[in-house]
Amino acid sequence: MMHFTPQTPIALPGMVNAHSHAFQRLLRGRVQRRLPHRTDSFWTWRETMYALANQLDPSALEASARLTYAECLEAGYTAVGEFHYLHHPVGTDDDGLAAAEAMIRGARQTGIRLCLLAAAYERGGFGEALTERQGCFDTKSPEALLSLVDKLLAIVAREGEGRIAIGLAIHSVRAVPPAQMSLLAAGARARGLPIHVHASEQPKEVQDCLAATGHRPIGLLAEAGVLGPDCSVVHATWYDDADLDRLEESGSGVIICPSTEGDLGDGFPRLAAMHARGIRLSIGSDSHAVIDPFAELRQLETNGRVASGSRCVLADSDGELRGPLEAIGSRHGRRALGLPETGHGDGLVLRAEARFFAEVPDGDRALAALLGGHAGLVDRVEVGGELLVEGGRHLHL
Ligand SMILES: [Zn+2]
Repeated sequence: MMHFTPQTPIALPGMVNAHSHAFQRLLRGRVQRRLPHRTDSFWTWRETMYALANQLDPSALEASARLTYAECLEAGYTAVGEFHYLHHPVGTDDDGLAAAEAMIRGARQTGIRLCLLAAAYERGGFGEALTERQGCFDTKSPEALLSLVDKLLAIVAREGEGRIAIGLAIHSVRAVPPAQMSLLAAGARARGLPIHVHASEQPKEVQDCLAATGHRPIGLLAEAGVLGPDCSVVHATWYDDADLDRLEESGSGVIICPSTEGDLGDGFPRLAAMHARGIRLSIGSDSHAVIDPFAELRQLETNGRVASGSRCVLADSDGELRGPLEAIGSRHGRRALGLPETGHGDGLVLRAEARFFAEVPDGDRALAALLGGHAGLVDRVEVGGELLVEGGRHLHL
């Protein structure tokens, strides 16, 4: 029997949570029950989420961001893409600036790197007006959203704080008509901003889009000129080969959120097909039912195995799994948020003395953690060279 002795520290690049709705962290544990004689689904979950969104004021929004991002840092995430669409929390009647500033304040209190993606949200569904409960998301027009984006860019430029960046999001093909999507994408590109959009998360969304427009969601995004190397499609769970062609040819990235997609019963993406085409994948914790990059990477790979009946689905051409998993957890996410792919002094160190690593060969410990580890293995986390987490706890919060 070998004796386990801790060796050199196990360092990883900072993980990137490329898709977050921080306020949804407040739903954790509260949405895991089904009413008798009722089928619970994404669509019933959404009603509960709307009820929460209509209760929060800017200070509650700021507190949710602080809580979520502190937990992200403790789990090893050093950057987060906040897909921000709760523009009008309780007590505000403005252009969305108060809510966006609340999110930025929450992030600054934790020290995480934030890309705040201001999300356009104009209608309730294909040919449907916003409902009363969706009023808190309303961005009215592309011009109004781009005006908010310009104000945020001016704030970030004026304050010169290197950890806050701005991007643009299109909530979904349900919530924004095609002509407006084109204007928004052009506006983002004129400003050099990353573009994110939810698409093809649910079969019903694909069916409704086909019925209303004659296109599937990813086809509609292609028609509207949204796809491109600066565009990240969030979820992309339900696609056909033509959708894959469009993602591949346009150079778009895909952000998969395995724990949330599992929580909501969205489905499995055909991971092996995406990976074989070289589509750039990254991860997000989305609704924050789980905040743990190791859990996301594991669920991504193991779902791919279950769906394909094979092993090591995300491996590179040499059969190695570490490089692709590390890229999906870190480098590709940075790219999705418009950050330089490496550097910045963002990184983490795992607890080499943890029993998890006993009997694992030195050269395999990082891969073992990426595939089978958990957030409890994180010891230290640095952002921009600043130590923020030690012993798995945020130093200030
Ligand atoms: Zn989302």
